[in-house]
Amino acid sequence: MILLDGKKVSKEIIANLKERREKINDNIKLAIVWVGNNPASEIYINNKKKQCAKINVLCDVYHLDEDSKENEVLELIDKLNNDKTVTGILVQSPLPNGIDETKCFNKIDPKKDIDGFSNISVGNLYLGRPKLVSCTPKGIIRLLEYYSIDLEGKNVCLINRSNIVGKPLFHLLISKNATVTMCHSKTRNLKDITKSADIVISAVGKPKFITADMVRDGAIVVDVGISRIDGKVVGDVDFASVSEKASYITPVPGGVGPMTIAMILENILIAKESE
Ligand code: NAP
Repeated sequence: MILLDGKKVSKEIIANLKERREKINDNIKLAIVWVGNNPASEIYINNKKKQCAKINVLCDVYHLDEDSKENEVLELIDKLNNDKTVTGILVQSPLPNGIDETKCFNKIDPKKDIDGFSNISVGNLYLGRPKLVSCTPKGIIRLLEYYSIDLEGKNVCLINRSNIVGKPLFHLLISKNATVTMCHSKTRNLKDITKSADIVISAVGKPKFITADMVRDGAIVVDVGISRIDGKVVGDVDFASVSEKASYITPVPGGVGPMTIAMILENILIAKESE
C-alpha cells in the first residue's frame, strides 16, 4: 500500500509556488470575507493566513458581525472587486442563516474568484475551459497525478454531489477520461458500485463510512471527509482495514486537506499572473 501523502506533496508544491511568487515584483493580496463567529472558520482562516505568509502573499480578513445583512456582505465583496490592491477574494463558508451563500460566491469578480465558485468559474470548468478551479477537487487530481495515477479509462466511484466537491471533481475526472459514477444519499446498492470501482473517492462526512468489504483488492481510495471524534480529525474511511486492501490511500489528516490549501495559494498566483 502506498500512502497518498498530501502533506509531503503540498510542501513541495508550496516550495515551487514560493519561487514562482518571487518572480512577481508586486504585492499580492488575498481578502477573506468572514461573517459571524464560527470557531471552525476562525481556525481555517488562521491557517490560510499562515500559508499565505509562507509565499509572501498578504492576507486581510474582513470580519462582519453575525447579524450582518446580505446586502452588507454583497457591498463588501463589490468594494473588494473594485480594489486594485486585492488580487483574490474568498468568502468563508458557512455564512450565517439568512445570507445566500451562492449569491455571495457569485458576486465575486471571476478574475478574483479563488474558490472557483462563481457561475462563470463553474461554467468555464463545465465547458472544459477551466481557469480558477475549486481547490479541493483540483488538489485531489494533483495528488493523483503526483503519484502517476493515470485516470484514463478508470472506473471512479465518487460519493458526493455537492457544488464544492462532487460536481467540480466530476468534471475534472471526465476531462481526464475517467468513467465516473456519481453517488449520493439516494444511490441504491452503493457497495456494488464501490466494489467494482478502480478508484473510490468518498466525501460524505461520516466516520467509517467506507469499510474494507466495500472496496476491491488493489483499489485506490481517496478520503475527502472530515469529521471530529473526541476532538480528533477523522475521514470517511476505516483506514486500518481499508489500507490493507488498497493499493494507494490518503490519510486523514494529511491527505486531501493540505492539498486544498496548496491549491488556494496556486489560484492566488494564477489570479495575479492573469491580471
Ligand atoms: P455535503 O454537501 O454535506 O455533501 C455530502 C455528500 O455525501 C452529499 O452528496 C450526500 O448526498 C452524500 N451522502 C450523505 N450520506 C450518504 C450516504 N449514506 N450514502 C451516499 N452518499 C451520502 O458536504 P460537502 O461540503 O460536499 O463536504 C463533504 C465532506 O468533505 C465533509 O466531511 C467535509 O468536511 C469534507 N471536505 C473536506 C475538504 C478538504 O479539504 N479535505 C474540503 C471540502 C469538504 P446528498 O447529495 O443526497 O445529500
